[in-house]
Amino acid sequence: MRTKSINKNKINVVTLGCSKNVYDSEVLMGQLKASGKDVVHEEEGNIVVINTCGFINNAKEESVNTILEYMQRKEEGEVDKVFVTGCLSERYKPDLQKEIPNVDQYFGTTELPGLLKALGADYKHELIGERLTTTPKNYAYLKIAEGCDRPCSFCAIPLMRGKHKSTPIEDLVTEAEKLASNGVKELILIAQDLTYYGLDLYKKRNLAELLKELVKVDGIEWIRMHYAFPTGFPMDVLEVMRNESKVCNYIDIPLQHISDDILKSMRRGTTKAKTTKLIQEFRKSVPEMAIRTTLIVGYPGETEEDFQLLKDWVKEMRFERLGCFTYSHEENTHAYNLEDDVSEEVKQERANEIMEIQSQISWELNRQKIGQTFKVVIDRKEGNYFVGRTEFDSPDVDNEVLIDATNNYLKTGEFANVKITDATDFDLYAEVL
Ligand code: SF4
Repeated sequence: MRTKSINKNKINVVTLGCSKNVYDSEVLMGQLKASGKDVVHEEEGNIVVINTCGFINNAKEESVNTILEYMQRKEEGEVDKVFVTGCLSERYKPDLQKEIPNVDQYFGTTELPGLLKALGADYKHELIGERLTTTPKNYAYLKIAEGCDRPCSFCAIPLMRGKHKSTPIEDLVTEAEKLASNGVKELILIAQDLTYYGLDLYKKRNLAELLKELVKVDGIEWIRMHYAFPTGFPMDVLEVMRNESKVCNYIDIPLQHISDDILKSMRRGTTKAKTTKLIQEFRKSVPEMAIRTTLIVGYPGETEEDFQLLKDWVKEMRFERLGCFTYSHEENTHAYNLEDDVSEEVKQERANEIMEIQSQISWELNRQKIGQTFKVVIDRKEGNYFVGRTEFDSPDVDNEVLIDATNNYLKTGEFANVKITDATDFDLYAEVL
């Protein structure tokens, strides 16, 4: 059958899941470009690479549906080849090969050289930092480590990403310099567990040292930290945050729950008392810090009392940013041996309740910002607004600052000083100073 492909030998990389997958897709695209391949990100192409997510049920479903969608297009001759990589493929390759056999080839999370070979390209080790970034030009993710050594009972990530492996500081500085030379002003540090950084390579938690090197990179104005872990948090990071203006007064630290029984069952290695003390030390050490956290509700055995404890704690802690997931019963995780006894309906009700509480807190905190001035970065123009963020806001997950574009002229990717004029629960309105 003659294929009626749209573009000859254009490789379209499709990314699903988290920022670590975005990073991996960018590395893949950088390697393909270096081998002279015509590569695009989520545009039309006759060869498709789907970088999948295998974290929780919803994400797995989205990955499978995306594969099926492209298999349909292959059936109809719109695309010639479909390759699948990433976490879902790492975790379920044998099942996928049986269920969706017409995929040209499946690759795991550590099989980049093999995937490149299948795409007619060579893996070039020397390409440190040669990524084709897919984020807006002013910010980029910097993955400082891969894998995770933690035993969290509900989490399948170590099954898909392996053991923790830190990237050497000098390689990360080289990468940051290249990104800065391409106009990146904001580095978003990511890993499965950011605060574990260096324990394998330098035999000590070395995130503070890394930050001190990254702030020296010309052109980088903001450095943001995502995916910290509460147990063994390296407190010297707070000192760097206090002393270095380039390090955003912002931290993302998923805490998952606060009931001691649930934390114990989750194998988080911490308690309500220890976690509360850590957050209070954050507040004391860097008072203006914005703390983002993520919680899981509906974990096996979560009682009404556990949930009430969590609600009361969220009200007491008043996090600046908070997200809430419903527990997903993941095979081959430790928690899979437990009975998934909280119904999907109750899980969703509990998640809605937590987000109700948080939207009230966020509204109150945002209202307090009216009249204050902030430095914002302009990410894009949307309708009649320029859309920006303060150092307290990470892309895609936090507040946005909306600036009337009908009587202001701002450049995307540039910084501006603004005064907050109004606020809703998750957005701020501002005028340029
Ligand atoms: S630290 Fe994060 S990635 Fe590692 S096991 Fe726990 S939840 Fe999963």
